[in-house]
Amino acid sequence: MNGLMMDQPLLISSQLEFASRFHSHVEVVTRTVEGPIVRTTWGTVAQRVRRLANALVGMGVKPGDRLATLAWNTQRHLELYFAVSGIGAVLHTINPRLPPDQLAFIVNHAGDSMLFFDTTFLPLAKHLASVPTPLQHFIALTDDAHMPENSGLPNLRAYELLLPHQPDTFEWPKLDENSASSLCYTSGTVGLPKGVLYSHRSTVLHSFAISMVDALAISAQDVTLPVVPMFHVNAWGVPYAAAMVGSKLVLPGAGMDGNSLLELIENEKVTSALGVPTVWLGLLAAAKTAGRKMSSLRQVVIGGSACPPSMITAFQEEHGAKVLHAWGMTEMSPLGTACRLLPKHANATAEEKLSVQMKQGRPIFGVDLRLVDDSGSVVPHDGTTSGHLQTRGLWIASGYFKSDDRTQHQDGWFYTGDIATIDGDGYMQITDRSKDVIKSGGEWISSIDLEHTAMLHPAVAQAAAIGVAHERWGERPLLVVVKQKDQEITKEALKEFLEAKLVKWWMPDAIEFVDALPIGPTGKILKRSLREKFAGYKL
Ligand code: AMP
Repeated sequence: MNGLMMDQPLLISSQLEFASRFHSHVEVVTRTVEGPIVRTTWGTVAQRVRRLANALVGMGVKPGDRLATLAWNTQRHLELYFAVSGIGAVLHTINPRLPPDQLAFIVNHAGDSMLFFDTTFLPLAKHLASVPTPLQHFIALTDDAHMPENSGLPNLRAYELLLPHQPDTFEWPKLDENSASSLCYTSGTVGLPKGVLYSHRSTVLHSFAISMVDALAISAQDVTLPVVPMFHVNAWGVPYAAAMVGSKLVLPGAGMDGNSLLELIENEKVTSALGVPTVWLGLLAAAKTAGRKMSSLRQVVIGGSACPPSMITAFQEEHGAKVLHAWGMTEMSPLGTACRLLPKHANATAEEKLSVQMKQGRPIFGVDLRLVDDSGSVVPHDGTTSGHLQTRGLWIASGYFKSDDRTQHQDGWFYTGDIATIDGDGYMQITDRSKDVIKSGGEWISSIDLEHTAMLHPAVAQAAAIGVAHERWGERPLLVVVKQKDQEITKEALKEFLEAKLVKWWMPDAIEFVDALPIGPTGKILKRSLREKFAGYKL
């Protein structure tokens, strides 16, 4: 027997229309690529989205067409999120930090027919116009006054000129909720990038889930700043959820540096900010130099790479902002776990709470997790046994776009490529990427633990541990360290510091100081480049 409930598809257009009907006066603020701060509302954004939808249909865009963006977090990019998916086309957000040959590869692989780009990325747009691709239209995300001159781009138009003569009403199509809505390629640190194709259904369900208070708590109470780029897994789904709950949205544009973010957080009274650890390093340093406390901040969501304990302490103790450590991946839309404490931690010491907060957290409803050994057999969730982390759920990729590759799938589960433990309360802790574990004498040493321990030293800004070949043990850890600006430390002093904190066989066999660590397109330390740099290193 069927229930007697209305059958409405889960559609991204309905999130926008909801924002327009019930949160129309809530602000959307952008630091524009042209410079000034632009202040508008969800109501105006929705009107412009409908105009854009009319324009796109007028330009011949059909359901299923892929339209690409090379863009920062801005109002115009937000409008494309809703207009492109709303009409049934697929928004392909391209990471501008990918090497140019990979850009061309993914534009061809995706079959993109239009490119919307911020003028910052004009050189990339020109590169794409100079190689064979299916791109037919180039649209600069700016107004007539700021259009690039003599760009040579075919059919180049200004975004703002698409909108004025269009009606601000649009009849959104009643799409099948399983239709594709957006496309994001994995960063391709190993092999070629792979396309993850999200659906309206997965996106809307993910929006509900991340808004829960035990998840990212996206809410009308908040002024939300997604620093995580809109070209990286849909800015963790924040734009969709913000529309749904009516959160004020603050979009940082190209200003991802510490000083620009600090200014935006203070001026807009941001209460909840989301981003990767490398971005927060810059913000914390800027706040320290300026001697400022970010008193409006209630929560800082940190994910994408493991969050060092020193960062949790800095936000919580110096700025009074709770850190929420979260984990996920492109294939997971991205959210898998969020690290909220439980009532049982109420009387825990600060140190005990910190040791929980360093974990990646508990799964949110909609995501299932398990650990398996090398042969694929399930291992216990006892908080100490580590295994390959697998997932399945409502917003997890069932495969890759135009690919038969099933190597990451087993019995309906997806191999995340992470090595983790899960304890009795469901807290998952990543010890490593499976490619990055250091295998010494058949035992695993967690590179993340080594790095975090080193970063507890006040003179260490960043650390990365990699395995280097060792005759007897197979591999031993080498610790590569970036010193804090204006601080000194010797290898011997750091060794002594680590010896007091690490078990003996985890101690790095060598320490090297470098000026900077290689950072990949999504803000993660590129361990592969480090391994190449130190290939043949003599211990
Ligand atoms: P991406 O698909 O580029 O978002 O990368 C996903 C990968 O980033 C995951 O499989 C993890 O290896 C890593 N990752 C994401 N969040 C965290 C976290 N909080 N701690 C450690 N690693 C993380």
